[in-house]
Amino acid sequence: MAGLRDKLTPLLGAKTAKALGGSLDIHTVSDLLRHYPRDYAERGKLTDIAGLELGEHVTVMARIERVNKRTMKAKYGTIIEMTITDGRRRLSCAFFNQAWREKELKLGAMGLFAGKVTAFRDQLQLTNPEYELLDDEADASTMDEFLGEIIPVYPAAQGIPTWVIGKCVRQILDQFELDEDPMPPELLAEYGLVDLEKALRHIHRPPNWPDREAARRRLKWDEAMAVQLIFAQRRYSTVSRPALPCPHVEGGLLDAFDKRLPFDLTAGQREIGDVIAAELATDHPMNRLLQGEVGSGKTVVALRAMLQAVDSGRQAAMLAPTEVLASQHARSLREMLGDIGMAGELGAAENATRVTLLTGSMGAKERKQALLDAASGAAGIVVGTHALIQDTVSFAELGFVVVDEQHRFGVEQRDALRSRGADSTSPHVLVMTATPIPRTVAMTVYGDLETSALREMPVGRSPIKTNVVPVAEKPAWLDRVWQRVSEEVGKGHQAYVVCPRIGDEPASDKGDKRPPLAVLDIAPDLANGPLKGLKIGVLHGRMPTDDKDQVMREFSAGKLDVLVATTVIEVGVNVPNATAMVIMDADRFGVSQLHQLRGRVGRGSVPGLCLLVTEALDGTTTRERLNAVESTTDGFELSRLDLEIRREGDILGAAQSGKRSGLKLLSLLQDEDVIAEARERAQSIVSEDPALDKYSGLAHMVSDVVDADRAEYLEKT
Ligand code: ADP
Ligand code: MG
Repeated sequence: MAGLRDKLTPLLGAKTAKALGGSLDIHTVSDLLRHYPRDYAERGKLTDIAGLELGEHVTVMARIERVNKRTMKAKYGTIIEMTITDGRRRLSCAFFNQAWREKELKLGAMGLFAGKVTAFRDQLQLTNPEYELLDDEADASTMDEFLGEIIPVYPAAQGIPTWVIGKCVRQILDQFELDEDPMPPELLAEYGLVDLEKALRHIHRPPNWPDREAARRRLKWDEAMAVQLIFAQRRYSTVSRPALPCPHVEGGLLDAFDKRLPFDLTAGQREIGDVIAAELATDHPMNRLLQGEVGSGKTVVALRAMLQAVDSGRQAAMLAPTEVLASQHARSLREMLGDIGMAGELGAAENATRVTLLTGSMGAKERKQALLDAASGAAGIVVGTHALIQDTVSFAELGFVVVDEQHRFGVEQRDALRSRGADSTSPHVLVMTATPIPRTVAMTVYGDLETSALREMPVGRSPIKTNVVPVAEKPAWLDRVWQRVSEEVGKGHQAYVVCPRIGDEPASDKGDKRPPLAVLDIAPDLANGPLKGLKIGVLHGRMPTDDKDQVMREFSAGKLDVLVATTVIEVGVNVPNATAMVIMDADRFGVSQLHQLRGRVGRGSVPGLCLLVTEALDGTTTRERLNAVESTTDGFELSRLDLEIRREGDILGAAQSGKRSGLKLLSLLQDEDVIAEARERAQSIVSEDPALDKYSGLAHMVSDVVDADRAEYLEKT
């Protein structure tokens, strides 16, 4: 009898085992049984040939319509030409020098045919396809294979067509026995899940569709549990470290700050603020992700938390992805704090603290002072780039770290942070991201963090109107775009024009697509053409820092009307007088990037306008994505739409499509309930039994379902 952890070689023979191992990375019974069918063929139901894509490796169920053997004149060989059909469309197939196949390929026979789809004279074709005929009575084993009505179609590889995999699976299932279900019985009962052995049998050889569905549901649970157990263990190991408690101090800086706050906190800010305040007060580290769009008021939330830490005698650090952003943060923190952030300066309030900026490009003298402030504790708040934590910067008593912009800050860096607290404690950590992501993605990709989201914008922000400008269909609309920009400038406002490319690099001649529009081409075109007479500036990432600063200063001061730029303006740039943004080749940007970009307009009292210029045609997925950006300014809704339009695989990256990646059945879009319930379940199991000693089945399942690479991948995202 075979168990899940058995090697395949003794069970299937060296040759077959080697083939499976080599091209599909399948080595154990578990690997094979978790290599689920990607689809099912139904006996008698033919595959729709019209749905095939050029270049794909496909397996189709079809009927042989025509077979013709002839000799090739030039090459002394034979060629068998065969046409297969689904009843409507035809696929032509050719076999070279395989004359013996002629008697096998009977007219009217039905079978599975596998190969790469090519095109020849407008006709879809499979060249030298591998096949398995269903009605061949001479071959009893073939008959047996297809006794079931529902035939699994496996992700296959060259040389291992789906029916070979199917035979291996059947052979293993015949010897397979599972002594114990890894999933706790009470969980199976609660969610009405079938046991693992049945699930594995039915996913491969479903007796009927409802049984197949029940099998899928159970196996989805396995995937969700495996991923969430890994995260739960990670969270547990983080949270069980000691941290410096930072309780709220009555009458401290935080209270003083709240009193002078010129606005009321939004309900979301208050609620999340309370959660953070409570977590900071405990002697285990907080580990929280705060999502909220640009302008949703995250910085205020973070600053209030930092003040609570300072009030209890600790230091707080704030990390930004770039030096520019770090100095902007330092400036705005100082502004918000006023005299309570001016310790050591004239006019400072009693008990004031100090905000110290520490960057690599500071002068030696300044930097030395900043390092001293951090080490002595004179600086309550230290702001710097991510390098702050790798550096040899020492703190007097670091209790709390705020990280801005999650997507550039990975798990390794978070780990590095954990060792930076005072007296071998871990600091409390708050990670902030302006990229809204759907809940299920957050739970899967940032699963090691607790998450909160600021969903409402503070009052007083101006709406942004977004329009797609489809220049392929309506070329004249482009003139109208520049006219609108001129009008905005005429009203005393300013505009951005964003391009995907700088234009100083040698054009790559990759394929058929024209290169994306470039800043250095568009700027002079506009200056000499539709925007003649306006003051146009250029900004991109490869300009020297001084030039960049100069241009930004001029634009901020209103000395430039139009700024033609790359996505360098994506983060942090704040010019309230800029009311319009034109994004050229908008289809070359991601949905969340477009959303981020348009956040640059509508910062003042006038509504913003964002024009998405594209050649993408109506009805394409690309256009659908742009239409989604046009349809809503709610970042969370947008991220959900994006997930719906994109193949989910994109979100989890290559690992999702990889042969042995963790999530084969689980859908981030459709299985929100499974993911959320598994997360809760995993949490309670791990808190009761962190090492899973009592759940050896679950521990094994984690490694079966989520292999080591995958686990690492999850952590790196
Ligand atoms: P984020 O960091 O999420 O981009 P900020 O915290 O910088 O957002 O807030 C953006 C702007 O909104 C700032 O000028 C801030 O002072 C202001 N703001 C924050 N919270 C509120 C609020 N509750 N009411 C009014 N304005 C607010
Ligand atoms: Mg901010």
